[in-house]
Amino acid sequence: MNVPDLVSPIYRRREADFKIYPCHTNRASSLGGDCERALVYARTHWEEAAKPDISTIILLQEGDKHEREALADLGRAGFQVIEQQVALEWKVFQITGHLDAVVVHEGESIPLDVKSMSPHIWDSIFRRGPGVYPWEEVREAFQKKPWLRKYLGQITLYELFKSVDRGILLAVNKGTGALAQVNVDLDYDYGEFLLRRAERINGHVAAGTIPDRIPFDDEICPRCAHYTTCLPDHVGREPIAFLDNSIVERLLEERERNEDARKVFEAADERVKKWAKARTEAKWAIGPWLLEKKVDGRGTTIKIKRAGEPASAEKEGTHAA
Ligand code: SF4
Repeated sequence: MNVPDLVSPIYRRREADFKIYPCHTNRASSLGGDCERALVYARTHWEEAAKPDISTIILLQEGDKHEREALADLGRAGFQVIEQQVALEWKVFQITGHLDAVVVHEGESIPLDVKSMSPHIWDSIFRRGPGVYPWEEVREAFQKKPWLRKYLGQITLYELFKSVDRGILLAVNKGTGALAQVNVDLDYDYGEFLLRRAERINGHVAAGTIPDRIPFDDEICPRCAHYTTCLPDHVGREPIAFLDNSIVERLLEERERNEDARKVFEAADERVKKWAKARTEAKWAIGPWLLEKKVDGRGTTIKIKRAGEPASAEKEGTHAA
């Protein structure tokens, strides 16, 4: 009997579930983005927007699951959570949004937006681990990535929508489930900037004009959904920029984290081997360790292993001189 392929149908289903809808308003989740031209394209050329690849689609869908679960957790923890997934519309500015929820606490209604994050991004922002953070403490960390830079705009607009002066970003670590709460006081100047931006975009849409490009940015433009519309001549010129580099980035961060450990290992390894080579004996038993020196025509090799462990290339330290 054939064993069914469970994976491919799920991938096909998930890809089919991801739709790009017509966009006739300024979305609160995007209005804080880096490029005003992209925001105009999102209104006027939405049907040309690049569809994310399947791995990104699955990542987004997994994020949605974590976010729904975090909201359910709030309810189970006894918080009054209302207005979940309520659609918001600010007609005069042509801004729309979907509020994740409002938390009612001591009579105050606080808009809440839940954000799921990869473990390395979450760890890089929330240095103290799970807990409550004022915006000022994490402001700089939220500037590091294009998508993180949009979050302040989104919660600011929700505060303006609800006429309140503070909101909460609840950040979920997708790897560990750890939670961090960011309390965001309304920044009126930034709110004003977002509303003026919405007005400028509306003006471009009405006039059929398009703002200037931002200076080409490797981190922003090749990831932009309107890259092929905006810069058709660039497409294919920087193949490295097309890589989904989140995995590479994690590896680079791991590499940096372990840099000191590698230096410590190499220094200890070198001292032990120098000591062994200066001795006349060929074998040593030191604590749980066995060391063996071999001399041949290519030089001197010192093998190091724990007693009782099979010799293997990975577990032995060798040094030829
Ligand atoms: S490709 Fe760059 S300049 Fe063009 S719309 Fe996108 S972000 Fe803006």
